[in-house]
Amino acid sequence: MSDLVLPRRRFLQASIGATLAVRPFGILEAAPLLPDYPFTLGVASGAPRANSVVIWTRLAPKPLEGGGMSAQPVAVDWQVAEDENFGRVVRKGRAVAEQASAHAVHVTVAGLKPGRWYWYRFRVGRAVSPIGRTRTAPAVGAAPDLRFAYASCQQYEQGYFSAYAEIARRELDFVVHLGDYIYESSWGSRHVRKHTGGIPTTLPEFRERYALYKLDPDLQSAHAAFPWLSIWDDHEVANDYTDDRSSLMADRDQFLKVRAAAYQAYYEHMPLPVSARPQGPQAVIYDQYRFGDMANLLLLDDRQYRSHHACLPGRSASPRVDCADRLREDRTMLGDGQEKWVDRTLAGDKGRWTIIAQQTLMAERDLDPGEGHGYWMDGWDGYAAGRRRLLDSLVEHRAPNPVVIGGDVHAFFAADLKSDFRDEKSSVVATEFCGTSITSEGPSAKGLATVRAKNPHIKYARDDKRGFAVVSLKKDRCEVGFEAVANEKEPGSPVSRVATFACLDGRPGVVEG
Ligand code: FE
Ligand code: CA
Repeated sequence: MSDLVLPRRRFLQASIGATLAVRPFGILEAAPLLPDYPFTLGVASGAPRANSVVIWTRLAPKPLEGGGMSAQPVAVDWQVAEDENFGRVVRKGRAVAEQASAHAVHVTVAGLKPGRWYWYRFRVGRAVSPIGRTRTAPAVGAAPDLRFAYASCQQYEQGYFSAYAEIARRELDFVVHLGDYIYESSWGSRHVRKHTGGIPTTLPEFRERYALYKLDPDLQSAHAAFPWLSIWDDHEVANDYTDDRSSLMADRDQFLKVRAAAYQAYYEHMPLPVSARPQGPQAVIYDQYRFGDMANLLLLDDRQYRSHHACLPGRSASPRVDCADRLREDRTMLGDGQEKWVDRTLAGDKGRWTIIAQQTLMAERDLDPGEGHGYWMDGWDGYAAGRRRLLDSLVEHRAPNPVVIGGDVHAFFAADLKSDFRDEKSSVVATEFCGTSITSEGPSAKGLATVRAKNPHIKYARDDKRGFAVVSLKKDRCEVGFEAVANEKEPGSPVSRVATFACLDGRPGVVEG
């Protein structure tokens, strides 16, 4: 082991005590020697199925200078073991890292056992990656308790990723990321660190933005500790974009080129299944994951297929407005194809809990402090018919115990999702838990008082804390903890729980935890 280049940081707490006992990777055959350590962006895993998982890394010895790799393809050896010391390697192979994919590798490791931990690592020449840990989904027929964290909105300049250091320390089965993994723009009132470069619009620029974020050791530790399920929101491309339209760019074709570059860079940097690989400006990231009989989890894409904003053509969706167009039947958040897929999927597989993982707050949120009504057109309120169709699908197919999780709004929310939000007597269809952000600034507290007063189905709202949420699924109960960082402007800041809610088997709606 002494002649191997070791990772500069230790990423996985669990492996610290065992480092000396780790079996050497072994030199399988001659491989190119790289002058600098290539695994600067860490390792990750995702797409956990009962028998497979995707493992990821990217070779980038000079991550902020275009990656630092030559045009040559490079062989990357990988191993997956049943133990953290790599005494029982159960799968191994060789992937090829190519310049066209920024020397990222995505390996779908098949033939694994369900519902258990695995450890993985990569090697190029004498350089060995940090060790990652991952977990397969339970087998169909099994229904073990599950616990996962969900996170979103991590503007790099506005804070440190202490929330991720805490996520890495928790006992979880997986992590769900609900979007705004990077931010294309600099905004916010107080920055503690700086983006390199300006607003990215080209593939090299988006790659550099991901590299900057992924150099963060706390983010790397959360990736190395658990498999992730990831979907994007708007800031991976451009603020508040809708399908082929961005308020920042008048020309549609030009914007679709930006979208293609952004989607490609997202794929290159996330542990996504090959099914999510972009084709130009298109990529199918919506998907279904089954966790035995315990959970049926749907990942949705709110951005790529949605109707353009209602009530404010071509402008930003920030102000609160209303107009007849908002309620048009043909308005869609998911697009026709994805809506049909959701309906088919809910009609088929069932789990004890149906988790709908999507980008933003789903509950109606009237923002007008007076007698009138005003809504934020970028959220589901701008797509009311699409929301109703989604909730109708849940009811029609008797999706068991639907729980919606979301991010985007940089605040914690717990809400009842109703068949008609304006009718207090209408039935509760699903339970929603939203936010907060890892670092991104929250909205104004003044607005929150209006939200509470005007929207009785919203049971909890808090916007002054950054952090994440932890969802525990048991047979009879789903418990959600809202976890807050003491001060995201300080590195290594502690995390504590600010609220706990629950929902009960067979009874949709928020209850006190
Ligand atoms: Fe955000
Ligand atoms: Ca967003």
